[in-house]
Amino acid sequence: MLNRRKLLILGSLLPMALPGIVAAEPTCGGALSMSQKNRRRALGYLDVSNDPKRRCGLCSYFSEAEPGCGKCQMLSGGAVTNNSVCNSFVADTTKHPTAQ
Ligand code: SF4
Repeated sequence: MLNRRKLLILGSLLPMALPGIVAAEPTCGGALSMSQKNRRRALGYLDVSNDPKRRCGLCSYFSEAEPGCGKCQMLSGGAVTNNSVCNSFVADTTKHPTAQ
């Protein structure tokens, strides 16, 4: 059973555990300007795609810059991860022949 002391100890350890959880998905590029955030919002950008066939790494507008990260033409060369996606996704059949 958890008592107050154990809860306080667990609470103090939580911030140390969070970076490991957050680091599961690579982050690309630095902080975004307000206009970059607005552009992403307008395109329905998601940091992680729900569909493995629809993700930046398989998109015509994507060019890989480093493992896990690339640049998107629709975002004026803004940094995206391979697993992000937006509503402007266009499958690049040279990257994934079965993508639609
Ligand atoms: S257009 Fe959308 S899906 Fe394609 S690379 Fe850019 S952000 Fe990713």
